[in-house]
Amino acid sequence: MNLPISVEFFPPKTDEGAAKLAQARRALYALKPQFCSVTYGAGGSTQEGSFATVAAIQAEGVEAAAHFSCIGATKASVEQRLQQLRDMGVRRLVALRGDLPSGYGAGGEFQYAADLVAFVREVFGDAFHIEVAAYPEVHPQARSAEADLKAFIAKAKAGADSAITQYFFNPDAYFRFVDEVVAAGVKIPIVPGIMPITNSSQLIRFSDMCGADVPRWIRQRLQSYGDDSASIKAFGHDVMVRVCEQLIQGGAPSLHFYTMNQSGPTVKICEALS
Ligand code: FAD
Repeated sequence: MNLPISVEFFPPKTDEGAAKLAQARRALYALKPQFCSVTYGAGGSTQEGSFATVAAIQAEGVEAAAHFSCIGATKASVEQRLQQLRDMGVRRLVALRGDLPSGYGAGGEFQYAADLVAFVREVFGDAFHIEVAAYPEVHPQARSAEADLKAFIAKAKAGADSAITQYFFNPDAYFRFVDEVVAAGVKIPIVPGIMPITNSSQLIRFSDMCGADVPRWIRQRLQSYGDDSASIKAFGHDVMVRVCEQLIQGGAPSLHFYTMNQSGPTVKICEALS
């Protein structure tokens, strides 16, 4: 596969998780990802682990992208954290609003991701390449599809360089979203987020939370496999290879894999695509 890829990890919570992730990273580096991104929990939940994982990737000689969310944060704290990333040599951010864990009050000096993008540009100029999130199937809290598209365009106009989408299983949703963004005069690359299917109940739970549509025929097939993990993985692999083929044929600029800290499913999909 000639298309560039990137991969995403979450910060591990235990030593065992850290060792498994280090192993997964080694296997995924063979695919020569453009960058490896690391998620970041709003409200302090995973921030130290996130920066530590970013540092480990940079130390391995691979470009890391730090996810960074602004909800509930002050401008002073954001500036200080971003300066820390800059001092670590990080040059790529995934700039997000984020979601506060339950129990946290709103507050903070940022309302939307577009405010964070504008702040980063104002304070740090071009020191960071800024990625933002995109939602081809509409963000679950959006007032309407049109309002969500406008919110995306605001992020691009505030200074985002490129975007990564929420995962989806219907390439038409992605192509329509890209067409609408281009029609609005915005030309930043929009990279599809790819979620390998490896576990039925986890996928359905995640998708319900983040507003990703799992088509009925995929749900039905997954349910019919019950606890048969090998069949779920084989079916999921076929579905995602087909989705990726359609995206590549339709002109996607790159693919971003939500690895869930596992190398096997992503490596297998990329091998099938080559
Ligand atoms: P925004 O772009 O600010 O949008 C949030 C909502 O506000 C949308 O409904 C939008 O339509 C609406 N909105 C925006 N601007 C306006 C406006 N001016 N007026 C009215 N409505 C408006 N979460 C994490 O906690 N950590 C992570 O590391 C993380 N990484 C992610 C990576 C990717 C690629 C994606 C797609 C999502 C990620 N998320 C992560 C989830 C993300 O934090 C949530 O989806 C969050 O609810 C929205 O963040 P955002 O940056 O997209 O927000």
